[in-house]
This record gives sequence, C-alpha cells and structure tokens, in this order.
Amino acid sequence: MISFLTSFAALTAIIAGRYLLTSGLIYALVQRRPDRPRPPSGAVRHEILLSLASSAVYALPAALVVEAWKAGHTLIYTDWRAYPLIWLPLSGLIYLLIQDAHYYWVHRLMHHRRLFRWFHAGHHRSPAPTAWASFAFDLTEAAMVAWVLPVLVFLIPIHVGVILFLLIAMTATATLNHCGVEIWPRGFVRGPIGGWLITATHHGVHHRRMQTNFGLHFRLWDRLMGTDVMPDEPAGAAR
Ligand SMILES: [Zn+2]
Ligand SMILES: [Zn+2]
Repeated sequence: MISFLTSFAALTAIIAGRYLLTSGLIYALVQRRPDRPRPPSGAVRHEILLSLASSAVYALPAALVVEAWKAGHTLIYTDWRAYPLIWLPLSGLIYLLIQDAHYYWVHRLMHHRRLFRWFHAGHHRSPAPTAWASFAFDLTEAAMVAWVLPVLVFLIPIHVGVILFLLIAMTATATLNHCGVEIWPRGFVRGPIGGWLITATHHGVHHRRMQTNFGLHFRLWDRLMGTDVMPDEPAGAAR
C-alpha cells in the first residue's frame, strides 16, 4: 500500500510536470505572439487547473501498472530482442489505433446533449483553446479514458521504451493540436501520411463545430463515419 501511494504521488507529479513543461514551452514558443489575440481572461487558469486535476486521475491506473509491473504481472518487456524488431513500431501503432478508436466513440458519446455537461464541457469552455488545454478534461472524462493504455499492457506486449516514446509523442501532439497554430507544412498535412493525422487545423475545427472531428490521433474514424472536416486554411494563418 505504501509502495502504491508512493507511485501514485510520484506519477501525479511526473504527469503534471510533463504537462506544465510541454504546454508552457509550446504556449510561449508557438502560440503567444504579440500579433495574436490574447485568450479570454480566466481561460488559461481554467485549462491549467483542470489539467492538474486530470493528472491525478491519470496517475491512478498508471500507479497500478507500475506496481503490477514490479510484481511481474504485465506484458511490458525490457529486452528489445524478446520479439522481432518490427514489433517495436507495430506494437506502438496498435496501441495508438486502439486508443484512437476508443476515444472516437467515447468522445462522440460525451457530445450527446444529455452527457456533454457532465463529461466534456470543461474541455470546451473556450471555442479557441490554448496549448494549456491539452490535458484539460472534466474528471469524469479523465476517468473514462485514463485506463485504456494501462489495460493494454496486460493484453499486448510492449517494450518499456515504446511506452515512453508514446507518452512523449502523445503529450507533444495533444499540446500542438490545441495551440491554434499549424506547425506542419501544408504539403505534409495534405500528404499521404499527414492526411491521416490529426493536427491543430483539424482539431481546431472540433472546438468551433462540435459535431465534427472527434478523433484523437488519426482521421480514420472521422472519415469512416463522415464526421471529418478539414478546412483549406491552416490554423493560425493570417486572416
Ligand atoms: Zn469534444
Ligand atoms: Zn480539444
């Protein structure tokens, strides 16, 4: 129990620290420019408070995984030769595809008018979110999504390094997708690979027109279900 509480406290601090560092950097370097409009007063504070609270919700299943890993009950491995090399990227992609499919449907559900207020309104307080909104979820929403990756480590083998890579990549993309500025070149966003990825332009539309663009990482489910909208003008372009 002491060990679990220590893991929980440490992970809450790590997740919150990771959030503050990434969002702070991207807000300062990409979003905050003198020629850009200032976010509404209180909006950033709301995004930060919600994100810090969500960090604790995410730390709970993560702490359970750490304890289970220490006891040898997960499929997390450390010897990269334990599986064929191709499994390193393949396992990461499978994790992302499963998480993306789960999020698409939970996200659509949370936009149901009876559920929105209780599960998802916190994330949509501003139609023009900032980089600080990357982790801003109502606690009910966080509880619906925080357990997905932790459950997968009991079902699908994954190298510990791939987990770390996914966590860093997911933090960076979630933050960039909320910063209101498209950092990728137009050719990439509309290309054969970038055209399937969610970027700031795509996710910005979701914050203005809530019945479109529900995906987390990929545009796959939005395209399949006819909810995909991609504007010609990249996010943050001079108007
Ligand atoms: Zn939403
Ligand atoms: Zn969002």
